[in-house]
Amino acid sequence: MKYIRERLGAKLFLSNLLVILIGVIILAITIQITIPAAFNRHLGMMAANGMGMGMMGQGQGQGFGRTLFENFRASMFQSLGYAVMASVLAALLVSWFLSRRIVAPVQTLTDASQRIADGHYAERVKVDGTDEIAQLAARFNQMATQLEQVESMRRQLIGDVTHELRTPLTSIKGYMEGLVDGVLPATPDTFNQIHHEADRLSRLVDDLQELSRVEAKAYSLDLRSIVVSNLVQTTVKRLSPQATAKRITLRSSLPADLPPVQADEDRITQVLVNLVANAIQYTPDGGDVTILATRQADEVHISVKDTGIGIPPEHLANLFTRFYRVDKSRSRNAGGGSGIGLTIARHLVEAHGGRIWAESKGDGQGSIFTFSLKIAK
Ligand code: ADP
Repeated sequence: MKYIRERLGAKLFLSNLLVILIGVIILAITIQITIPAAFNRHLGMMAANGMGMGMMGQGQGQGFGRTLFENFRASMFQSLGYAVMASVLAALLVSWFLSRRIVAPVQTLTDASQRIADGHYAERVKVDGTDEIAQLAARFNQMATQLEQVESMRRQLIGDVTHELRTPLTSIKGYMEGLVDGVLPATPDTFNQIHHEADRLSRLVDDLQELSRVEAKAYSLDLRSIVVSNLVQTTVKRLSPQATAKRITLRSSLPADLPPVQADEDRITQVLVNLVANAIQYTPDGGDVTILATRQADEVHISVKDTGIGIPPEHLANLFTRFYRVDKSRSRNAGGGSGIGLTIARHLVEAHGGRIWAESKGDGQGSIFTFSLKIAK
């Protein structure tokens, strides 16, 4: 029974069989019922004619036999005619009922797909049973859910990007109006502010371009065996000027026997640079930023630890979501980013098969950002 419920082919086969069976049964019953009546009627007619025939005298016996046979054939045909009509009618009714039951879910799917094509992404179909059509309906619902998510992400992204672009644009417009009206003095300082906002805009556009590239996985990883201390040295060299400018001590602490990792050097340097740049940015003058690495089973964990402003625990899980900032005004005033850097970092680390997470004891308690990479084979 379970086999039949799960297979559309078995259902179609059985329903055809059922139609044939019902046709045959109705045929048999109708013949049973109609033949005696038809035969009696024809016999009656023959008896009436027989009297006439009796008067013919010679050849009477031969004539009687032929008439009996013809009467039998006529009554047989008549009864068969009724039987065929009854069984065809029954077969038609049963086929109509069965095909409606089988085709109805397909019709529902067709209607639902049309509504989705019209932009109603919340459309779902009811899944009944376990046969192929029910499986198709379940897949259809899955596809609709994904479409709905993509659509809502697209809307969210457009909303976010519009919001992010509006802020520096409004700012530039304000400066320009001030200059035109003579409210703002045309000093290098004013022009520097405008330049600063324009710079933010262009960084935002670059970040967005990079984000769309990593989200679409439109890049390939050149995985090699990489020595972690080289990665760290490159990063420290690149960010030393920024650390020095804020009198931040930037150092690293790596065990001597750290195994090499399996990674794309440029991509992982990008991640580490991002984490260290954030640490420098969110650490007040005179603080410390340390790069650490430890071996954990078949992974190496690389961490960036700072003595900075810290992160309240409720924000930790969201930091890797695009445009997420703990404190929007704080981040902007700090020469702030767009909230995309950590999202890009997460995508890159996950593309390596690793994880990335943040820890902090809260405001003013510093933060630790860690990511994992597989040890090179
Ligand atoms: P942004 O470009 O704004 O720095 P990120 O994606 O790199 O964007 O970081 C997202 C947010 O995470 C930041 O706006 C900031 O609020 C918080 N954050 C990141 N790194 C640190 C850190 N080391 N200390 C405190 N907060 C941090």
